[in-house]
Amino acid sequence: MNLSNKVAIVTGGAAGIGRAISLELAKQGAKIVLNYNRSQDAANLLVEEIKSLGGDAVAVQADVSKYDDAERLVQKAIETYGTLNIVVNNAGITDDALILRMQESQFNRVIDTNLKGVWNVSKHAAKPLLKSGYGRIINISSVSGVMGNAGQSNYSAAKAGVIGLTKALAREFASRGVTVNAIAPGFIETEMTKKLPEDVVTQWQAQIPLKRFGQAIEVAHAVVFLSSELASYITGHTLEVDGGIVM
Ligand code: NAP
Repeated sequence: MNLSNKVAIVTGGAAGIGRAISLELAKQGAKIVLNYNRSQDAANLLVEEIKSLGGDAVAVQADVSKYDDAERLVQKAIETYGTLNIVVNNAGITDDALILRMQESQFNRVIDTNLKGVWNVSKHAAKPLLKSGYGRIINISSVSGVMGNAGQSNYSAAKAGVIGLTKALAREFASRGVTVNAIAPGFIETEMTKKLPEDVVTQWQAQIPLKRFGQAIEVAHAVVFLSSELASYITGHTLEVDGGIVM
């Protein structure tokens, strides 16, 4: 899947699933605008790794929940590489609690990053993507947004919102050749799922038909496919990468 001469922004691209996405897109030849919020050292190391593999990447600090930061991120992509083809809205956080205990601040923080963040980056990326002649937006949702998850009213709402946003943008951009899709990962081994208690992990694993948590690279492979020419007739879709937990 040749993505050479394509320019990709990956939000939260230095850690976890985002790191795997940045690396896999780079291996297919895409130039990576690697966004991070706090993980500066990891971002710089990954830029070096991509360059050592013969690729090209630049690290850009931006908090996607902030409208102006998202604008600066997109501007930096255009200044550095002159165009923008692929946006992977991957940045996300959890802040779990049952609604009886959840504070308003927990709700707002998760919505601001996981939903508003996707809108902020898409809003600023829209013009350059439409101009570029080859555009892809891939939003990382979650099975929690598809089936709901107790203790995650904030996260499930944000991730379901991402699916609605994906479909709206798919309709807005379809006539201009820009596809917009979502990926809904199930349980993937990253820092995010390391926080889960052992008994919760065992219970969930028992319910996954493939009987294991996924790896970040298994999500990255789906992103590479949706970014490529091979996915040219797919838009507004949510692809579950979840070991079969949602079916
Ligand atoms: P992770 O290891 O905790 O990484 C989260 C990433 O998001 C980090 O790179 C972080 O950047 C970035 N981020 C957080 N807040 C940000 C902000 N305000 N602005 C910019 N970047 C920000 O999590 P992960 O498991 O890789 O999750 C990646 C995505 O997949 C998320 O959207 C998550 O909801 C989704 N997902 C994960 C799973 C799973 O099982 N792991 C399942 C379904 C969906 P810094 O470190 O630089 O702050």
